[in-house]
Amino acid sequence: MTTVGVLRETAGRERRVALTPDGVARLRRTGFRVLVETGAGRSAWFDDDAYAEAGADAGSRQQVYDESDVLLVVRPPEDVAALAAGRVLVGLLDPLGDPALAGRLAAQGVTAISLDLLPRTLSRAQPMDALTSQANVAGYKAALLAAEAYGGFFPMLVTAAGTSRPAQVLVLGAGVAGLQALATARRLGALVTGYDVREAARADIASTGAAVLQLDAETQGSADGYARRLTDEAAAAQLTALTRAVPRFDVVITTAKVPGGRSPLLVPAEALAAMRPGSVVIDLGGNVAGAVADTRTVTDHGVTVIGAPNLASTVPVAASTAYARNVVALVSSLLPEGRLPAGRADEVLDAVLVTHGGDVVHPRLRDHQETR
Ligand code: NAD
Repeated sequence: MTTVGVLRETAGRERRVALTPDGVARLRRTGFRVLVETGAGRSAWFDDDAYAEAGADAGSRQQVYDESDVLLVVRPPEDVAALAAGRVLVGLLDPLGDPALAGRLAAQGVTAISLDLLPRTLSRAQPMDALTSQANVAGYKAALLAAEAYGGFFPMLVTAAGTSRPAQVLVLGAGVAGLQALATARRLGALVTGYDVREAARADIASTGAAVLQLDAETQGSADGYARRLTDEAAAAQLTALTRAVPRFDVVITTAKVPGGRSPLLVPAEALAAMRPGSVVIDLGGNVAGAVADTRTVTDHGVTVIGAPNLASTVPVAASTAYARNVVALVSSLLPEGRLPAGRADEVLDAVLVTHGGDVVHPRLRDHQETR
């Protein structure tokens, strides 16, 4: 019987787990044995008993490595060297950000599948779309974090002690995380405004009830609906326009990324310096000058800047539940026997397969490695 193993996450501050008890039951129904490392779900509030009740076996980390045909993780394990040849590793492996890992996994003979590389517009791939499920959680938490760090109310409140003005919230980058941040901040009563470089995102922003920030700056869209890196002139013009716009807001949440590329700077030091004391900036995308990951800093004149690239991990129940559904869909669809189907011709599998048979097989990753 094919064994699917679940490893405890080892990345610092990571609280998610790759499979929940509900996910165990689903995999068991499709004929897999599931082996969960003791304590793997503890930081996401899924205890060992819940896994056992769902039909999982429990084991030490070494047992999970030894007995599993497929290993499920959220992020790459720090002891990845323990993976034997022929095993399949499934996770958010960030191979474009860390191509050296792909090289190591290939040398070990591991088959690596990375959910970051999923072709997101294919309807068949959507149940496996972990980038979307995790970005949705992160965007939600970004709005809550902003509300907590902000010294005023988000909604307009009319009380006997007077009327409070609503907070003005700007979200830069209106993909999955940005749209959820807009929707959540609006539910909390803030006046929300969104901005994205893609034309198509304007309608999405409006659908959350937010205003659309119009910049005079020339920007460029892209044929496939994904953002591309702006030309140097366009990026400079955008930065100048945003530096003028940002200080009008009490709260700014940034989520802008370019798939496989470096994140654009959208809030430079000059914009932070012009914001009012008490303003809050939450940086999910790596778009804010001086923001440090997982750290809250306050500038000399009182602007709170929170570097928050890993927010999904801070809502571990929701994030793990959604992630588990994504990996169950992937395993059931792409690895029905616990290994790559013979004579495979599958556009989703080809897109997510990073290493196989001792080689780095993903074309985009090979190009990426060559251009570095
Ligand atoms: P992402 O996390 O890669 O980036 C977030 C947002 O930042 C994107 O909307 C992008 O346009 C924006 N951005 C990039 N550079 C910018 C800049 N210089 N200034 C302002 N904004 C900038 O994106 P995502 O949330 O993963 O989604 C990306 C796209 O994929 C969106 O079009 C989304 O609708 C689409 N998508 C489609 C599906 C589907 O069809 N099922 C699923 C998920 C995502």
